[in-house]
Amino acid sequence: MISREAIVRGYNRGNYTVGAPTAPHWGGRTVAPASETSTGLQTDVVHVPAETLEQLAATSDEIVAARDEIIAGTRDWWARSMIAETSGEPATPEAVIVRVSTVEQVQGVLRIASAASIPVTVSAGRSNVTGAALPLRGGIVLDVCGLDRFIGFDDSSQIVEVEAGMFGDLFETRIQEEFGMTTGHWPSSFAISTVGGWVACRGAGQLSTRYGKIEDMVFGLDVVLADGTLITVGDAGRAAVGPDLMQLFVGSEGTLGVIVRVRLKLHRLPDYGAAVAYGFRTFAEGLDACRRILQAGATPAALRLYDELESGVQFGHADLNVLLIADEGPRGLVDAGLDIARRECREIGGAVLDGDAIFERWLDTRYLTGKSSEGFTPGPGFVSDTLEMIARWRDLPAIYDEVVAALSAVPGTLAGSAHQSHAYVDSACLYFSLRGDVEPERRADWYRRAWDAANAVLLRYGATLSHHHGIGLLRGDYMRDSLGAGYSVLEQVKRTLDPQNILNPGKLGLPL
Ligand SMILES: Cc1cc2nc3c(=O)[nH]c(=O)nc-3n(C[C@H](O)[C@H](O)[C@H](O)COP(=O)(O)OP(=O)(O)OC[C@H]3O[C@@H](n4cnc5c(N)ncnc54)[C@H](O)[C@@H]3O)c2cc1C
Repeated sequence: MISREAIVRGYNRGNYTVGAPTAPHWGGRTVAPASETSTGLQTDVVHVPAETLEQLAATSDEIVAARDEIIAGTRDWWARSMIAETSGEPATPEAVIVRVSTVEQVQGVLRIASAASIPVTVSAGRSNVTGAALPLRGGIVLDVCGLDRFIGFDDSSQIVEVEAGMFGDLFETRIQEEFGMTTGHWPSSFAISTVGGWVACRGAGQLSTRYGKIEDMVFGLDVVLADGTLITVGDAGRAAVGPDLMQLFVGSEGTLGVIVRVRLKLHRLPDYGAAVAYGFRTFAEGLDACRRILQAGATPAALRLYDELESGVQFGHADLNVLLIADEGPRGLVDAGLDIARRECREIGGAVLDGDAIFERWLDTRYLTGKSSEGFTPGPGFVSDTLEMIARWRDLPAIYDEVVAALSAVPGTLAGSAHQSHAYVDSACLYFSLRGDVEPERRADWYRRAWDAANAVLLRYGATLSHHHGIGLLRGDYMRDSLGAGYSVLEQVKRTLDPQNILNPGKLGLPL
């Protein structure tokens, strides 16, 4: 079986805070003493006036304003934030954190913010890796982690309702233990992120080929708009009532509204699972195998192809591109899907590997991907990050070669590598790992150049810049080129829903 105990095996080595944000793991690097004057990545900071602070205090559970607590309480997992923090210039030292635990409080805070034109940045698990929850203009950081109630389960429709700030591990444990159900949503960060954060970032779990991405799992949402109005969107299995308004908020990263309640479709817990594995001489051959498996109609929960570098680190097969195919569910479906996978791999010459052994190894090592090896201690100039994108099958082999080459050409790059992590009939997600080692003061420059180099390839191929991590601040500058003339539609939607631009300004490439 892939889920339940298996999926949590190796998860951050069990090292996370239950039910609250987990401080980022920086491989032994520590926060440098913070400069008293630097505003880090913030510009044009809005300070919350004293009378507004009083109103906020009366409307919320807690207000936090001390500079050191703001630094710690806005810290995220973005690599660029790590560079800032270890340079003594924390990303966002100026803001006021407002903690809430009811929908009415969220509405109240937004009414106050709207009346006083104060920016509001929603903050949940802070596990994003794009700077999405950083309050770039200061103002209010709206901490929704207290909005964590389990509301109910409709067992005949298999729909669950929870508040948005509930952490993923607590949520999944509850639905498994009480109802024998699963969402099938297993992001590598599932215990350090919230249900609302999954929806706000349009995330994907490791078993998405069987269960779908979060946008496929959401049934309905309750959202508080910038002026405090509470709306309900979705709540239909399928519909023909104009465009799907719910999907407007899925992936909106706190720029269009605050998601307060989430309804998700669930699945019965599987009682059967199996895995097979193959080795391919080239990454392109392995991609071809993945494409053929999907296009032949199989939907194995995990279909993961690792290039030689990652196959070496994870499976000890540095001479092969290892493809793991694992599935769970009703026995007949799983066996039929794996038969299709075996046939397609055999036809293009894949070497049979020990599926059970590779699967066991994957459970233990999948969270190491992108790191050089277990026990590796990064030096002061080491930077690593991951880039997940999606493109048509047609373009993926060339994109893989060209992104790895573009990264390698940036002075200071140690290595670029990738695995195919999520696959569809038409396209697939490649998950690149980038690692550099430069003089500590050159880290931000290397980081920017590496992302510029990789994204230039993606834009040339018309690929989509992110498959599941989202845009945040990291990818904002590339949004206009990526969306072309369609970008103005996003700008107009933002202006209509948030005319004062108070909701998470400066994200998704939108104006500060
Ligand atoms: C080690 C690691 C592994 C990861 N693996 C995966 C993975 O496998 N798949 C994946 O999809 N992601 C992954 N991520 C990224 C991250 O965990 C997800 O983006 C996650 O969904 C963020 O949720 P959060 O609760 O931490 O949100 P935060 O980081 O607090 O916020 C992220 C963004 O969402 C907005 N937001 C949060 N809650 C709400 C809300 N209720 N209403 C409106 N806006 C809101 C914030 O304003 C911000 O813009 C990984 C991150 C780490 C550190």
